[in-house]
Amino acid sequence: MSRCKACDVIMNEFEMRRIDRATGEYSELCSDCLSASNEATRDIDSPMHTILDDIVNPFEFLADMEEQ
Ligand SMILES: [Zn+2]
Repeated sequence: MSRCKACDVIMNEFEMRRIDRATGEYSELCSDCLSASNEATRDIDSPMHTILDDIVNPFEFLADMEEQ
């Protein structure tokens, strides 16, 4: 018997055997927590986040734009 590492609910066999696609390991999360974490991951992977991550200093970025 295994419990969800996030909310401690007892997981069914399907949930226990589910592999986390991001890590390739057992997710150890119940369906509720897994869908919540998938949504969080999706948010981080959104294009806007990627763009913001690339821009360390927004002012420097704008200055570079003007120079070109
Ligand atoms: Zn859970």
